[in-house]
Amino acid sequence: MIPVPGYEGRRVAVFGLGRSGITAARALQAGGAIPILWDDGVSGRMQAEAEGFTVEDLTTADWSGFAALVLSPGAPLTHPKPHWSVDKAREAGAPVIGDVELFARAIAALPKDQRPRVVAITGTNGKSTTTALIGWVLKSAGLTVHVGGNIGIGVLALPAPTPDAVYVIEVSSYQLDLTTTFAPDVAILTNISPDHLDRHGGMEAYVAAKARIFAAQEPGAVALVGVDESWGQGIASQLSQSVITISTLPSPLGGEGGSRSETDEGAAGPETALASSATEPPPHPSPSGSPSPPRGEGYVAQPGAVLKNGERIVDLTAARSLPGRHNAQNAAFAYATARALGVSHDAAVAGLLSFPGLAHRMEAVGRLGPVRFINDSKATNADAARQALSSYPRVFWIAGGVPKAGGIDDLADLFPRVTKAYLIGEAAEAFAATLADTPHVIAETLDAAVAAASADAASAGGDQIVLLSPACASFDQYPDFEARGEAFRAAVLALGAVPETAS
Ligand code: ADP
Repeated sequence: MIPVPGYEGRRVAVFGLGRSGITAARALQAGGAIPILWDDGVSGRMQAEAEGFTVEDLTTADWSGFAALVLSPGAPLTHPKPHWSVDKAREAGAPVIGDVELFARAIAALPKDQRPRVVAITGTNGKSTTTALIGWVLKSAGLTVHVGGNIGIGVLALPAPTPDAVYVIEVSSYQLDLTTTFAPDVAILTNISPDHLDRHGGMEAYVAAKARIFAAQEPGAVALVGVDESWGQGIASQLSQSVITISTLPSPLGGEGGSRSETDEGAAGPETALASSATEPPPHPSPSGSPSPPRGEGYVAQPGAVLKNGERIVDLTAARSLPGRHNAQNAAFAYATARALGVSHDAAVAGLLSFPGLAHRMEAVGRLGPVRFINDSKATNADAARQALSSYPRVFWIAGGVPKAGGIDDLADLFPRVTKAYLIGEAAEAFAATLADTPHVIAETLDAAVAAASADAASAGGDQIVLLSPACASFDQYPDFEARGEAFRAAVLALGAVPETAS
């Protein structure tokens, strides 16, 4: 646990007693604060009381003595309307912060030479994969690494800081909205597409929340920005710290580079240890919708490769767990991070190649003769499903659940890759209408979809892919995307498929 100093002897309100709230209370208490806890639900309050915390009804409490409100990222800060605890805090003049901000303050309270380094990752898609990949690469290179935040262990539950440690923290837009001084040494924005707009009140506020990951970075810090869309381009253009852009689009900056030979570290250009890199000043924002990334130090990610200055510096064809263009992008983020932290080219590449992958993200779960089954249950929106569909020339595609705004309309250019679609859950009828002439069937349940897709793929002959990439939330049929992915795995194995391993 990471004790949070700065509130010694002062009352701090903690609202929302899920995992992050209880952990924040522990960390505050360990730092000498007096946390006062509350939740609208009884079970969280009971757990807090069982742990010996002071549980007090914050709807009627005297807020004048509170030094801050620590708000759960699950409770709305602004939209659809501020949570009542936010209104109370504002009336009392108490700052509203979250667990990542407490973490930032705990780090900042240390003398400079005692501080660990912090890598933070946000973005609409690819956060967890990039976070896990960076953790893996840095660990493989021999660093002391703690991975957590929005993935796995809550940030304040990670081990206490030591000067040699590197924290690799996944941060959601909700968590970023609750930060003011969070200053990662390496901050990453993977990409932005419309998501969670109900909670941010619109695209502009969502983009602004994401951009906060860079807002408090110090001048020597590194910003790694995915610049495939105009939002990322605009953000990259406005930063004054060292910016490294990552694009998956062919561009004059990186070139396609396909005809060039692989290069060694020397040819990869002068990678720098953190805080010593000098890059060109950032350019002006690109016009909205322009595909060309801002000029500056940059990487281009292609399926199977990472390029820099037109040179193929990382060959990913042997990296079994990083298929597709989007994973090449994730690999580019991880490579650039490792290099910025002083890891050698060879060690960084070795880490990328040995990454075992994350469950439910284009995870190969089984093989039945020539038919492979891919679990991409984490694709809860169309943009994520686009990455999976783009990775295979032909697929038997299982999709559906609770659709996001726009459904699968934006994926129409990929429908020619769909041999047949098997539609499940609430979205089935609407997706069937969107698919129109693309062969499809309403399977309703995942089990039925797996059985039908497997039979069709087997009779098609040759190597075939059955892909679960729902482009939907899971809540109509499953508690979460993990349960949906496990149900897919179980259905596949029940057909007699042989599990695949990542090695
Ligand atoms: P997050 O934690 O942001 O939800 P994940 O790493 O769990 O991201 O991946 C979520 C989904 O997005 C998966 O379906 C995955 O295939 C897809 N994905 C992964 N990396 C990227 C990326 N760089 N760009 C777009 N989509 C991605």
